[in-house]
Amino acid sequence: MLKGVAASPGIEIGKVYVLKDQEITINTNIVPQEKVEEEVEKFDSAVKDSHDQLEQIKEKAEKELGKEKGEIFAAHLMILDDNVFLNEVREKIKSNCVTAENSLSQVVDKYVAMFNGMEDEYLKERAADIKDISIRILKNILGLDIKSLAEIDEEVILIAKDLTPSDTAQMNKEMVKAFATDMGGRTSHTAIMARSLEIPAVVGLIDISKKAKDGELVIIDGNKGEVLVNPDDLTLKEYKRLQDEYYHYVDELKKLKDKPCQTKDEKRRVDIAANIGTPKDCEGALNNGAEGIGLYRTEFLYMDRSSLPTEDEQFEAYKAVAVAMSPRPVIIRTLDIGGDKKLSYLEMPNEMNPFLGWRAIRLCLDRKDILKTQLKAILRASHYGKLRVMYPMISNAEEIRKANAVLQEAKDELDKEEVPYDKNLEVGIMVEIPSAAVIADILAKEVDFFSIGTNDLIQYSLAVDRMNEHISYLYEPLHPAVLRLIKNVIDASHEAGKWTGMCGEMAGDLAATPILLGMGLDEFSMSAVSIPRVKKIIRSMTYEDAQEVARKALGMDKPEEIKELVKCFLNKVTN
Ligand code: PEP
Ligand code: MG
Repeated sequence: MLKGVAASPGIEIGKVYVLKDQEITINTNIVPQEKVEEEVEKFDSAVKDSHDQLEQIKEKAEKELGKEKGEIFAAHLMILDDNVFLNEVREKIKSNCVTAENSLSQVVDKYVAMFNGMEDEYLKERAADIKDISIRILKNILGLDIKSLAEIDEEVILIAKDLTPSDTAQMNKEMVKAFATDMGGRTSHTAIMARSLEIPAVVGLIDISKKAKDGELVIIDGNKGEVLVNPDDLTLKEYKRLQDEYYHYVDELKKLKDKPCQTKDEKRRVDIAANIGTPKDCEGALNNGAEGIGLYRTEFLYMDRSSLPTEDEQFEAYKAVAVAMSPRPVIIRTLDIGGDKKLSYLEMPNEMNPFLGWRAIRLCLDRKDILKTQLKAILRASHYGKLRVMYPMISNAEEIRKANAVLQEAKDELDKEEVPYDKNLEVGIMVEIPSAAVIADILAKEVDFFSIGTNDLIQYSLAVDRMNEHISYLYEPLHPAVLRLIKNVIDASHEAGKWTGMCGEMAGDLAATPILLGMGLDEFSMSAVSIPRVKKIIRSMTYEDAQEVARKALGMDKPEEIKELVKCFLNKVTN
């Protein structure tokens, strides 16, 4: 069995089709002066051919995979339109008297090395884009056949060293049932493409393209990231069973997309929402049946850049989310920077305990200019959908009042400028500091809603750094202290006529679902892919049963006991 990175879920069994690398030979001879211009022309014409081919592939990708996936090729086309890059190749041909292909590979090697040397995983992957486009130009220069995966006419499992974005876009989805590659990581385009094609894939297998031969039988397990070449009969039988089971499960989940997230007895309905980091994530949220966005982490708008985003830039992003999700509600969290999330252009103090330091709302109340700009952008965008605003890391009532004063200033300025916004914009807070959970009754008077951030709430209440693997065994969502804090927050909000959601990872953890539901949590917000599973579980239990589980769990003193209780309960309701 070969172990790689699980890039796209599902199990497939089929015949191997190995995509072989074509031999590209680079002529490194010196070109006579009188032929130099010919080489430049050869290069220009290959660039033009590549351009035409890519336009076609882009169109196909947009039609079959959606506009966003076509954008990968827009990036490739931009490389082909980049005069600095093109002139560098032309100049090298002329000044060094080398062939078009030789000059191109030297220039490309330089850029690939530059991108590979970057720390950022995403930028590293962009080296693959440049390599991909250069191979196309090279093949066009040399008049080589550009093999089209669209022509595969029998069902296969595609095995390759790597699959370029143009390979995956051309792939005939009817025939390619799954794929496995030597290269690739979690953020590689190959992995992204596989997920949007919804076919199982395993990447990063190192040498699968050498180990598998055309026509051999292979099993791809995209759930576990495993590949089995030439399995024996017994293994094959077992995987066929697993495959049936998995697809049955997926079919069942799909049926739930537009169904309400309510208990079997219809006595309790909750909102199920997605956590997102960028406007692009709305598509996945909607596809998985999200009824709204329970947490839009706006930090990403501020990262990977050299200065603060302007009000207009932010407005565009928030408006995009408001429009994409409308009429569903979207909770935008104000900047939660600090701790492990730093901004290169914002001077931050060197702190002994950055997680207990100058971060999130504390930073924003010191830098009211940053907060006001963001709030104005959110207010302006609120005119285009149903937005809510949420402050992170609140520890006392005064912080809410101060933040609301900045919100009022932002509103006054917009009123003066006669800019429309939602006058009833709801304001909530993240409950992620134990003090806030304990005084939830006091804070409830200041807000419209709470959203429990268990990722931090657990770390602070149990004094367990959420990123330290040495003490990760102590990071226990089902610790009685955590459950009591959650219960206190929910009860306090209800007593004040308000509601409570949860946007920490615990909201998508099935081991906690019946307890949270039974405690009266009103909204569950999680990564989009977890939504169908949680919805299915909620729909399989009665409200009374969930309340009973919650009551029992709150009376137990050991997390193991609580886990066993939930496990038995889930086994009972799902079988
Ligand atoms: C949390 O703390 O639970 C949360 C959702 O916020 P983040 O993970 O961004 O800190
Ligand atoms: Mg947090």
